[in-house]
Amino acid sequence: MKTELPGLTLAELTDLMKRMGFPAFRAKQLIKYLHEGADFADMPLLPKEMRGRLAEECEANTVTIHKEFPSADGGAKYLYALRDGSIIEGVRMRYSYGDTLCLSTQVGCRMGCAFCASTLDGLARNLTAGEMAGQIACQKQPVGNVVLMGSGEPFDNYDEVVRFLRVIHEPLGLNISMRRVSLSTCGLVPQMLRFAEEGLNVTLAVSLHAPNDDLRKTIMPIAEVYGVADIIRASRVYFNKSGRRIIFEYALIKDVNDSDACAAELAILLHGNHPAKSPGSPTKPQFWRGGSTDLSGTPGMPCHVNLIPLNGIPERSLAGSSKNRVRAFESKLTELGISATVRRSLADDVAGACGQLRRANL
Ligand code: SF4
Repeated sequence: MKTELPGLTLAELTDLMKRMGFPAFRAKQLIKYLHEGADFADMPLLPKEMRGRLAEECEANTVTIHKEFPSADGGAKYLYALRDGSIIEGVRMRYSYGDTLCLSTQVGCRMGCAFCASTLDGLARNLTAGEMAGQIACQKQPVGNVVLMGSGEPFDNYDEVVRFLRVIHEPLGLNISMRRVSLSTCGLVPQMLRFAEEGLNVTLAVSLHAPNDDLRKTIMPIAEVYGVADIIRASRVYFNKSGRRIIFEYALIKDVNDSDACAAELAILLHGNHPAKSPGSPTKPQFWRGGSTDLSGTPGMPCHVNLIPLNGIPERSLAGSSKNRVRAFESKLTELGISATVRRSLADDVAGACGQLRRANL
């Protein structure tokens, strides 16, 4: 099997060069080319004989754009083809401060969230770090921010995701600052705690989608394993280690989780008044920057709620909340001292929710 080069760090590429009998400095030239999406034939600084050897034994491009669907807002959705014929999807979102690329971390997903099309056929396989990096490289244009929020649960593919983050941080490669990366998780508590120790300090986006376990279990099977109190505690550990404000993702589903009562319960949870609070905690959150509500209870943490108007999925009977309900939910949270905004829909004129494009193609 050929060695996938885009998933290697500079140190690993350097080792490989030495093992193949090439000078170590070639790794520095190679990493730059790899992250520009160049094939071996387009690496003029490398000797011809070396390019031939590399082409025989290694892969330079792990991902190709299978189809591009431009959006009226300047962004685009993509179907990417992998070497084994698998298809994954991704999105480029255009913001005033630069482009953000949303990447997939798995082919499909086994988490089973009721509002998500990516999980309808289960998990096919994990992506390699090289295949994640390849989604950036094949764009062949600058990427400002990276969000791991496409198909797959990143922490269900922990080692390759961590490797990918280290690879894109390589100064001679893409040199992407971890402050420009967001990673979404449906709340795999052990991995959240482990990730806090990695020192990578990306923004953690925790997909909560319900303020209590009973409701969460009706839309997210993972709630049978990890409760919201543990997820909030793990989020606080991550904040304490990284200093990064936690983002809580909340998809608003009509008549399921979009009532004022849900907003109030969510506010209480995020203020730190959840049932599992530790005794003897200070009565005022130490880092709280929310509002003037009574914040007695365990300390909250700097956090923000991203409200996502759900895109309906034909295969499921769940519908998105009305615009008025979305606004009302946001107002309720803000009134209760929780920082919240409604996520702008980008590139949503193309095939709606995450995973639908790939399904339509299959
Ligand atoms: S929302 Fe995320 S974790 Fe849940 S099924 Fe979809 S891809 Fe998996």
